[in-house]
Amino acid sequence: MKTALTIAGSDSGGGAGIQADIKTFSSLGVFGMSVITAVTAQNTTEVKSVQMIDSQMIRDQISAIFNDIPVDAVKIGMLGTEENVTVVAKELITYHPQHIILDPVMISKGGHHLLQQNAIEALKEKLLPIVTLITPNIPEAECLTDSRICTIEDMYHACLKLKELGAKNVLLKGGHLEGDPNDLFFDGNQFTWLYGKRIHTKNVHGTGCTLSSAIAAFIAQEETLLSAVKKAKDYITVAIEHSLEIGNGHGPTNHFF
Ligand code: PLP
Repeated sequence: MKTALTIAGSDSGGGAGIQADIKTFSSLGVFGMSVITAVTAQNTTEVKSVQMIDSQMIRDQISAIFNDIPVDAVKIGMLGTEENVTVVAKELITYHPQHIILDPVMISKGGHHLLQQNAIEALKEKLLPIVTLITPNIPEAECLTDSRICTIEDMYHACLKLKELGAKNVLLKGGHLEGDPNDLFFDGNQFTWLYGKRIHTKNVHGTGCTLSSAIAAFIAQEETLLSAVKKAKDYITVAIEHSLEIGNGHGPTNHFF
Protein backbone atom coordinates (compact mmCIF):
# COMPACT_ATOMS: atom_id res chain seq x y z
CA MET A 1 0.00 0.00 0.00
CA LYS A 2 1.25 3.49 -0.80
CA THR A 3 1.83 5.89 2.10
CA ALA A 4 1.49 9.61 2.71
CA LEU A 5 2.63 11.72 5.65
CA THR A 6 1.09 14.96 6.84
CA ILE A 7 3.17 17.40 8.90
CA ALA A 8 0.53 19.79 10.24
CA GLY A 9 -1.60 21.02 13.10
CA SER A 10 -4.45 19.22 14.83
CA ASP A 11 -7.99 20.63 14.55
CA SER A 12 -10.04 19.39 17.51
CA GLY A 13 -13.21 20.03 15.47
CA GLY A 14 -12.11 17.46 12.90
CA GLY A 15 -12.68 19.61 9.81
CA ALA A 16 -9.20 20.87 8.94
CA GLY A 17 -5.56 20.15 9.71
CA ILE A 18 -4.29 16.65 10.49
CA GLN A 19 -7.84 15.29 10.78
CA ALA A 20 -8.83 16.44 7.27
CA ASP A 21 -5.53 15.16 5.89
CA ILE A 22 -5.87 11.66 7.34
CA LYS A 23 -9.51 11.42 6.18
CA THR A 24 -8.41 12.45 2.68
CA PHE A 25 -5.59 9.88 2.61
CA SER A 26 -7.95 7.14 3.79
CA SER A 27 -10.66 8.08 1.32
CA LEU A 28 -8.15 8.00 -1.55
CA GLY A 29 -6.68 4.63 -0.54
CA VAL A 30 -3.27 5.55 0.85
CA PHE A 31 -1.95 4.77 4.32
CA GLY A 32 -1.86 8.02 6.30
CA MET A 33 0.71 9.07 8.91
CA SER A 34 1.07 12.29 10.86
CA VAL A 35 3.61 14.56 12.51
CA ILE A 36 1.73 16.96 14.76
CA THR A 37 3.24 20.46 14.88
CA ALA A 38 0.57 22.21 16.94
CA VAL A 39 -2.65 21.45 18.77
CA THR A 40 -5.53 23.85 18.16
CA ALA A 41 -8.64 24.10 20.32
CA GLN A 42 -11.04 24.70 17.46
CA ASN A 43 -14.57 24.09 16.22
CA THR A 44 -16.56 25.20 13.17
CA THR A 45 -16.88 28.76 14.50
CA GLU A 46 -13.42 29.68 15.86
CA VAL A 47 -9.87 28.80 16.82
CA LYS A 48 -9.96 29.28 20.61
CA SER A 49 -6.30 28.66 21.35
CA VAL A 50 -3.15 27.09 19.95
CA GLN A 51 -0.35 25.19 21.64
CA MET A 52 2.81 24.56 19.66
CA ILE A 53 4.59 21.24 19.89
CA ASP A 54 8.28 21.72 20.67
CA SER A 55 10.75 21.21 17.88
CA GLN A 56 12.54 18.23 19.47
CA MET A 57 9.21 16.36 19.53
CA ILE A 58 8.62 17.27 15.88
CA ARG A 59 12.09 15.98 14.99
CA ASP A 60 11.42 12.74 16.90
CA GLN A 61 8.10 12.15 15.13
CA ILE A 62 9.72 12.68 11.72
CA SER A 63 12.68 10.41 12.43
CA ALA A 64 10.45 7.71 13.99
CA ILE A 65 8.51 7.51 10.74
CA PHE A 66 11.35 7.78 8.23
CA ASN A 67 13.58 5.30 10.07
CA ASP A 68 10.91 2.61 9.75
CA ILE A 69 8.29 3.28 7.10
CA PRO A 70 8.69 4.17 3.40
CA VAL A 71 7.05 7.55 2.74
CA ASP A 72 5.71 7.96 -0.80
CA ALA A 73 4.61 11.59 -0.39
CA VAL A 74 4.66 14.32 2.24
CA LYS A 75 2.14 17.11 2.72
CA ILE A 76 3.05 20.08 4.92
CA GLY A 77 0.33 22.24 6.49
CA MET A 78 0.37 24.45 9.59
CA LEU A 79 3.88 24.89 11.03
CA GLY A 80 3.25 27.84 13.35
CA THR A 81 6.70 29.03 14.31
CA GLU A 82 10.06 29.84 12.76
CA GLU A 83 11.63 27.09 14.85
CA ASN A 84 9.18 24.53 13.49
CA VAL A 85 9.74 25.65 9.89
CA THR A 86 13.49 25.31 10.41
CA VAL A 87 13.36 21.86 12.00
CA VAL A 88 10.97 20.48 9.36
CA ALA A 89 13.16 21.82 6.52
CA LYS A 90 16.28 20.31 8.12
CA GLU A 91 14.69 16.88 8.63
CA LEU A 92 13.26 16.79 5.11
CA ILE A 93 16.69 17.60 3.69
CA THR A 94 18.07 14.67 5.72
CA TYR A 95 15.40 12.11 4.74
CA HIS A 96 14.82 13.52 1.27
CA PRO A 97 11.34 12.18 0.40
CA GLN A 98 10.60 12.20 -3.32
CA HIS A 99 7.47 14.36 -3.24
CA ILE A 100 6.67 17.24 -0.86
CA ILE A 101 3.49 19.32 -1.18
CA LEU A 102 3.55 22.57 0.82
CA ASP A 103 0.30 24.26 1.79
CA PRO A 104 1.64 27.53 3.27
CA VAL A 105 -1.05 27.82 5.94
CA MET A 106 -1.05 31.34 7.42
CA ILE A 107 -4.48 32.48 8.59
CA SER A 108 -7.67 30.50 9.31
CA LYS A 109 -10.90 31.50 7.57
CA GLY A 110 -11.96 33.00 10.91
CA GLY A 111 -8.88 35.27 10.90
CA HIS A 112 -6.68 33.43 13.44
CA HIS A 113 -2.93 33.56 12.68
CA LEU A 114 -1.59 30.03 12.27
CA LEU A 115 1.92 31.08 11.18
CA GLN A 116 3.89 33.63 13.18
CA GLN A 117 5.09 36.67 11.26
CA ASN A 118 8.79 35.88 11.72
CA ALA A 119 8.24 32.34 10.37
CA ILE A 120 7.26 33.62 6.92
CA GLU A 121 10.84 34.51 5.93
CA ALA A 122 12.06 31.10 7.13
CA LEU A 123 9.34 29.40 5.08
CA LYS A 124 10.44 31.34 1.97
CA GLU A 125 14.14 30.73 2.49
CA LYS A 126 14.32 27.21 3.87
CA LEU A 127 11.21 25.33 2.82
CA LEU A 128 9.99 26.77 -0.46
CA PRO A 129 13.14 25.78 -2.41
CA ILE A 130 13.06 22.14 -1.25
CA VAL A 131 9.41 21.27 -1.95
CA THR A 132 7.91 19.76 -5.11
CA LEU A 133 4.84 22.00 -5.14
CA ILE A 134 3.52 24.98 -3.18
CA THR A 135 -0.27 25.55 -3.04
CA PRO A 136 -0.94 29.12 -1.84
CA ASN A 137 -4.33 30.80 -1.94
CA ILE A 138 -4.46 34.44 -3.05
CA PRO A 139 -3.73 36.07 0.38
CA GLU A 140 -0.87 33.62 1.02
CA ALA A 141 0.64 34.27 -2.42
CA GLU A 142 0.31 38.03 -1.82
CA CYS A 143 2.21 37.67 1.41
CA LEU A 144 4.92 35.46 -0.08
CA THR A 145 5.45 37.68 -3.13
CA ASP A 146 4.84 41.03 -1.44
CA SER A 147 2.34 42.04 -4.13
CA ARG A 148 -1.38 42.55 -4.66
CA ILE A 149 -3.23 39.93 -6.73
CA CYS A 150 -6.51 41.22 -8.17
CA THR A 151 -6.51 40.03 -11.77
CA ILE A 152 -5.61 37.03 -13.94
CA GLU A 153 -2.50 38.94 -15.04
CA ASP A 154 -1.47 39.34 -11.38
CA MET A 155 -1.84 35.56 -10.92
CA TYR A 156 0.65 34.90 -13.72
CA HIS A 157 3.08 37.41 -12.19
CA ALA A 158 2.77 35.86 -8.72
CA CYS A 159 3.63 32.41 -10.12
CA LEU A 160 6.72 33.85 -11.82
CA LYS A 161 7.74 35.60 -8.59
CA LEU A 162 7.34 32.36 -6.63
CA LYS A 163 9.60 30.67 -9.18
CA GLU A 164 12.19 33.43 -8.59
CA LEU A 165 11.96 32.62 -4.87
CA GLY A 166 12.87 29.00 -5.66
CA ALA A 167 9.51 27.26 -6.16
CA LYS A 168 9.68 24.36 -8.64
CA ASN A 169 5.91 24.07 -9.18
CA VAL A 170 3.08 26.34 -8.07
CA LEU A 171 -0.66 25.79 -7.75
CA LEU A 172 -2.11 29.27 -7.17
CA LYS A 173 -5.69 28.87 -5.97
CA GLY A 174 -7.99 31.57 -7.33
CA GLY A 175 -10.98 31.03 -5.06
CA HIS A 176 -10.51 34.32 -3.18
CA LEU A 177 -11.01 36.32 -6.39
CA GLU A 178 -14.52 37.12 -7.64
CA GLY A 179 -16.26 34.70 -9.99
CA ASP A 180 -15.51 31.04 -10.45
CA PRO A 181 -12.61 29.49 -8.50
CA ASN A 182 -10.06 28.96 -11.28
CA ASP A 183 -6.61 27.80 -10.20
CA LEU A 184 -3.34 28.37 -12.04
CA PHE A 185 -0.73 25.60 -12.19
CA PHE A 186 2.82 26.54 -13.17
CA ASP A 187 5.59 23.99 -13.61
CA GLY A 188 8.30 26.58 -14.09
CA ASN A 189 7.80 26.58 -17.86
CA GLN A 190 4.16 26.11 -18.71
CA PHE A 191 0.94 27.47 -17.25
CA THR A 192 -2.20 25.33 -17.02
CA TRP A 193 -5.59 26.61 -15.86
CA LEU A 194 -7.82 24.38 -13.75
CA TYR A 195 -11.33 25.67 -14.10
CA GLY A 196 -13.95 25.38 -11.37
CA LYS A 197 -17.57 26.38 -10.77
CA ARG A 198 -18.37 28.36 -7.62
CA ILE A 199 -20.35 26.20 -5.17
CA HIS A 200 -22.49 28.34 -2.89
CA THR A 201 -22.10 26.87 0.60
CA LYS A 202 -20.74 28.13 3.91
CA ASN A 203 -19.36 24.69 4.69
CA VAL A 204 -15.83 25.11 3.40
CA HIS A 205 -13.75 24.51 6.51
CA GLY A 206 -10.55 22.63 5.70
CA THR A 207 -10.76 22.89 1.92
CA GLY A 208 -7.11 23.93 1.50
CA CYS A 209 -5.93 21.10 3.76
CA THR A 210 -8.02 18.59 1.84
CA LEU A 211 -6.81 19.74 -1.59
CA SER A 212 -3.10 19.56 -0.71
CA SER A 213 -3.55 16.15 0.96
CA ALA A 214 -5.39 14.85 -2.09
CA ILE A 215 -2.51 15.98 -4.31
CA ALA A 216 -0.10 14.11 -1.99
CA ALA A 217 -2.33 11.02 -2.08
CA PHE A 218 -2.48 10.96 -5.89
CA ILE A 219 1.23 11.62 -6.32
CA ALA A 220 1.97 8.82 -3.82
CA GLN A 221 0.03 6.60 -6.22
CA GLU A 222 2.41 7.51 -9.04
CA GLU A 223 0.30 10.02 -10.89
CA THR A 224 2.26 12.78 -12.62
CA LEU A 225 2.14 16.07 -10.74
CA LEU A 226 -0.26 17.71 -13.21
CA SER A 227 -2.55 14.68 -13.18
CA ALA A 228 -2.46 14.58 -9.35
CA VAL A 229 -3.37 18.27 -9.21
CA LYS A 230 -6.28 17.81 -11.66
CA LYS A 231 -7.63 14.75 -9.81
CA ALA A 232 -7.29 16.54 -6.47
CA LYS A 233 -9.23 19.53 -7.82
CA ASP A 234 -12.02 17.17 -8.94
CA TYR A 235 -11.95 15.52 -5.49
CA ILE A 236 -12.20 18.77 -3.51
CA THR A 237 -15.00 19.97 -5.81
CA VAL A 238 -17.13 16.92 -5.05
CA ALA A 239 -16.13 17.03 -1.35
CA ILE A 240 -17.44 20.63 -1.19
CA GLU A 241 -20.61 19.71 -3.13
CA HIS A 242 -21.26 17.09 -0.42
CA SER A 243 -20.01 19.22 2.50
CA LEU A 244 -21.53 18.58 5.90
CA GLU A 245 -23.93 20.68 7.96
CA ILE A 246 -22.06 20.05 11.21
CA GLY A 247 -21.66 22.71 13.93
CA ASN A 248 -22.86 26.31 13.94
CA GLY A 249 -20.13 27.80 11.75
CA HIS A 250 -18.32 26.64 8.65
CA GLY A 251 -19.01 22.92 8.37
CA PRO A 252 -16.37 20.53 6.97
CA THR A 253 -16.00 19.08 3.53
CA ASN A 254 -17.13 15.47 3.15
CA HIS A 255 -14.35 13.00 2.34
CA PHE A 256 -16.53 9.93 1.94
CA PHE A 257 -19.17 10.88 -0.61
N1 PLP B 1 -6.63 24.69 11.68
C1 PLP B 1 -5.59 23.99 11.24
C2 PLP B 1 -4.86 23.12 12.21
C3 PLP B 1 -5.24 24.04 9.90
O1 PLP B 1 -4.19 23.36 9.44
C4 PLP B 1 -6.00 24.83 9.01
C5 PLP B 1 -5.70 24.77 7.61
O2 PLP B 1 -5.30 25.41 6.83
C6 PLP B 1 -7.03 25.59 9.50
C7 PLP B 1 -7.32 25.48 10.83
C8 PLP B 1 -7.81 26.54 8.65
O3 PLP B 1 -8.87 25.97 8.10
P1 PLP B 1 -9.92 26.87 7.30
O4 PLP B 1 -9.18 28.11 6.89
O5 PLP B 1 -10.27 26.03 6.12
O6 PLP B 1 -11.05 27.13 8.19
